Amino acid sequence: MSDERHSGAHPLTARQPGQPTTIVQVGAVAFGGDRVVLIGGPCAVEGHAQVGRAARAVFEAGGGMLRGGAWKPRTSPYDFQGLGPDGLEHLVAARDATGLPFVTEVLDPRDVELVAAHADMLQIGSRSVQNFPLLREAGRSGRPVLLKRGMMTTVAEWLHAAEHVLAAGGRQVVFCERGIRTFDPTLRNTLDVGAVAVLRELTHFPVIVDPSHAAGEARFVTALARAAVAAGADGLLVEMHPDPAAALSDAAQSLTPAQFRELADSCRAVARAVGRDL
Ligand code: PEP
Ligand code: MN
Repeated sequence: MSDERHSGAHPLTARQPGQPTTIVQVGAVAFGGDRVVLIGGPCAVEGHAQVGRAARAVFEAGGGMLRGGAWKPRTSPYDFQGLGPDGLEHLVAARDATGLPFVTEVLDPRDVELVAAHADMLQIGSRSVQNFPLLREAGRSGRPVLLKRGMMTTVAEWLHAAEHVLAAGGRQVVFCERGIRTFDPTLRNTLDVGAVAVLRELTHFPVIVDPSHAAGEARFVTALARAAVAAGADGLLVEMHPDPAAALSDAAQSLTPAQFRELADSCRAVARAVGRDL
């Protein structure tokens, strides 16, 4: 392994010998404890009813948290960009109805204050992991930050990104591996399960996995999720839509509510096999 382990290059994220995992608390949900946290919901918030149905399905499957993008970082500017502030209101309504806290992506430093006023946790997306002004603004917000790995970000760069959040005053970071770009285009990305094991050693902050953006296709999502839990992930971030065929983004990788429940049951069995629960 490179010199990341003892380099002191990431003083706020580095796990000291014997240091326990820092529990990141989001409402009643604790990342880094015995329970593997299951986060589910649509890629994009498309409306009140859609996110409400997704939230109910997360709750019924035993999930702990809701996800959904109000602002979407789309490769094409002509694709659906998200509902913006209205999307936040739909997420708040879904939280009120189910009691599930939610995480949502913030793309622009100018939106951090608004998003932090509504969301329980801020997501920094893959494309933003080295947007340093955004990282610092998220750190200043006081909200826990879910920090995706960039599709071409090394583990060292990812740790440094978290240092920006923490150096700006953030106290709670959860790392999220979501697949990286490799030579092989067979799946949308290549899930770096090894990074989960490595990060558990390098940092005292929790590490979760997003199998959806790694797989890119719904039928492979559960296998990757199971591998993540077996490797020690503290949580899963899974895209699920009440009607995947009609999803305005990431339709192919979105699970139905029934598939989401099956994933939950299947990953719960894996969690128990490795001494945890879900
Ligand atoms: C998402 O979670 O919908 C998303 C855009 O993820 P990523 O930043 O990992 O591509
Ligand atoms: Mn998505």
